[in-house]
This record gives sequence, C-alpha cells and structure tokens, in this order.
Amino acid sequence: MHELGIAQEIVSIVVEHAAGARVVRVVLEIGKLAAVLPDAVRFCFDLCAEDTPLEGASLVIIETPGRARCRACGNELTFDRPFGRCPCGETDLEWLAGAELKVKEFEIIDV
Ligand SMILES: [Zn+2]
Repeated sequence: MHELGIAQEIVSIVVEHAAGARVVRVVLEIGKLAAVLPDAVRFCFDLCAEDTPLEGASLVIIETPGRARCRACGNELTFDRPFGRCPCGETDLEWLAGAELKVKEFEIIDV
C-alpha cells in the first residue's frame, strides 16, 4: 500500500514547515491520474499523524481532474482516467495535469 509512504511523507513535510506549531488542518491536492486512493491516504494520514503536531488535524483532499490537449485539433479536455479520446476521434493526447500530489496548504495554531 503505497498510500502509507505518501501519508508519511505528507506528515513529515508539514511537521518540518510547521516548526513545532500545532497543525489543525491540512489541504492536499491529489490528481485523479496519480493512482492514489484518497480514502487510503486519509486512513494512513491519521495513523502517521499520531504523536506528532498533526495529531487530530483534519485532512481535506481536493481531487483535481486529469487535463490533456488533443494533438490533432488542440482541444483541451478533462479526464478521470489516464487515457481517453477527443470528440474529434483522436486518442493521441498530451497530458498537462492530473498526476500531481501535493500539500496545498495547512493551518496552524500558535501556542
Ligand atoms: Zn481532437
């Protein structure tokens, strides 16, 4: 389950940036093409956050769609899967976005 590794990385990134402050909310952006299950990340996040300044923090996951440009007609399209077909019939697509996985922001409380 690679979501566990992802969750560990997210927790360590946020812990580092929070510099000891208590974290109450983490917003994560996961592309639909990243092959990551948001529910699994959420589950692993809670486990990894235990005994860190992130313990009890809420995790908000924003799923971003895959975006591609058709190489034939230049149309920009969105997809939920890493493959597809342009309405013009072309399947040769240039992928622009949708595989990213990043911490968008997080909220801390000063103590
Ligand atoms: Zn097209």
